[in-house]
Amino acid sequence: MVEMLKGIAASDGVAVAKAYLLVQPDLSFNKISVEDTEAEEKRIDDALAKSTEELQQIREKAAQSLGEAEAQVFDAHLMVLSDPEMIGQIKQNVKDNKVNAESALKEVTDMYIGMFEAMDDNAYMQERAADIRDVAKRVLAHLLGVTLPNPSMINEEVVVVAHDLTPSDTAQLDRKFVKAFVTDIGGRTSHSAIMARSLEIPAIVGTKEITAKVKAGDILAVNGIIGDVIIDPTEDQKAEFQKAGAEFAAQKAEWEKLKEADTITADGKHFELAANIGTPKDLEGVHNNGAEAIGLYRTEFLYMDSSDFPTEEDQFEAYKAVLEGMGDKPVVVRTMDIGGDKELPYLTLPHEMNPFLGYRALRISLSELGDDMFRTQLRALLRASAFGNLRIMFPMVATLKEFRAAKKMYDEERQKLINEGVTVSDTIQVGIMIEIPAAAVLADKFAKEVDFFSIGTNDLIQYTMAADRMNERVSYLYQPYNPSILRLIKNVIDSAHAEGKWAGMCGEMAGDQTAVPILMGMGLDEFSMSATSILKTRSLMKRLSTEDMKVLADKALNDCDTMEEVVELVEEAVK
Ligand code: PEP
Ligand code: MG
Repeated sequence: MVEMLKGIAASDGVAVAKAYLLVQPDLSFNKISVEDTEAEEKRIDDALAKSTEELQQIREKAAQSLGEAEAQVFDAHLMVLSDPEMIGQIKQNVKDNKVNAESALKEVTDMYIGMFEAMDDNAYMQERAADIRDVAKRVLAHLLGVTLPNPSMINEEVVVVAHDLTPSDTAQLDRKFVKAFVTDIGGRTSHSAIMARSLEIPAIVGTKEITAKVKAGDILAVNGIIGDVIIDPTEDQKAEFQKAGAEFAAQKAEWEKLKEADTITADGKHFELAANIGTPKDLEGVHNNGAEAIGLYRTEFLYMDSSDFPTEEDQFEAYKAVLEGMGDKPVVVRTMDIGGDKELPYLTLPHEMNPFLGYRALRISLSELGDDMFRTQLRALLRASAFGNLRIMFPMVATLKEFRAAKKMYDEERQKLINEGVTVSDTIQVGIMIEIPAAAVLADKFAKEVDFFSIGTNDLIQYTMAADRMNERVSYLYQPYNPSILRLIKNVIDSAHAEGKWAGMCGEMAGDQTAVPILMGMGLDEFSMSATSILKTRSLMKRLSTEDMKVLADKALNDCDTMEEVVELVEEAVK
């Protein structure tokens, strides 16, 4: 039956394909007594054999798409599957207690997991616990005759449907086959949505009920530009969506003509259009979309894509590749912003009620736990600085004391490297992200000590409006054009300029076509966004005059009471 759902438009593009449900199956079971223990042992052997075969395929696929190093995680899983001691104990448990295979498996693997987890100061042991948990889940699924979703094994054109997608799930999606994704929860600035934009996968998030409505194999028509998804569309509806897709492709072809053009407004002013990246692999998109700089390199993906902390050498290579790839163009690298929705499988952080307000980002870097990690990252960055135009910034700065502490560690590592005879650039700028309202309000003080600001509106808006950026139920409060947000931004830009510093923006608002005219009028120097938004923003800026935009910004800041009034004002001015 045809059904239409509305969600939050998270990544532009249109697709019509069948649904692939990335949903965890029900793995519940009852403990039951059995007479025929041999039959249970045979079930265990069958489930182990099927799991082994499946894992070998996944490993092979991972080696092809992600590389041998990443594929080695699955070797650890295969080793667990063939561990004679553990398998022996599971079978013994069946025999001794006359119970079904499911409950023997659970009892024995839980015992191992508990044992490894108890050694909580040892990252290696934590990983073993995680490996056993993963493997036990796979074997249990085979015992119960259900299938675990494997996004990396998708080999036909599909729309992925999920309750939520983590950034690491998203990274596994193969663009060749995944034509779109649709989720129940999430917001436009959740990291999976941000990644969808850089992968150019159309996406709709926050539909609330897609997983409840869709069965595997249903045909879905997805329009990520406006946030509409139709389940089982009619032929007419399919044609309508395909037409919207063709129009979008034609529009993109128009924007592409501006790839080599300068970003000069109608009255001759230049603004810098930069790209946000998560890995050196994103450089291709940066060049294809004519970026003039990298305004945000989210280095935490380097940590998330790895099965252990990346070494100084690994990091040095990644930073060097990006710096060299950009020639003399600026590259703003943000030190690791772990926490919130970005978790590391090998770093167990205490469970928190409010992870976005908790122990994350610079707060980890400045604590005892993060000291080593942070210094390693700073050294890798300083060494890489000899290969391009590096700028470093710290995330989630709330107080000047935090900035000074981070800057002190930076100065210490820099001095150590110089003493060791290592070449370090002497033109590195060190700045901060403005994403906590306290720093936005006190920007005049910060401006005296930092080299630049980059406004992180994804977080700044959620903290100012007290509305979780991941929660679709409060997404109506996610208001980039609210005059309160605009006034905070204006204060940051003016404070930077008063001290002769520059102010950029690397939150998603920088590429928002309604916000851009106002930000131009406020005098923002650098706009950093998903690479795929650059050309449409260049096209918009070329049509506008900064003098007119100053008048517009002034009205938005002083005359408007609500976000709706601001939107109306911009629509009127930019028609
Ligand atoms: C931001 O908060 O605006 C930002 C750019 O950082 P992230 O989205 O990674 O939190
Ligand atoms: Mg942020």
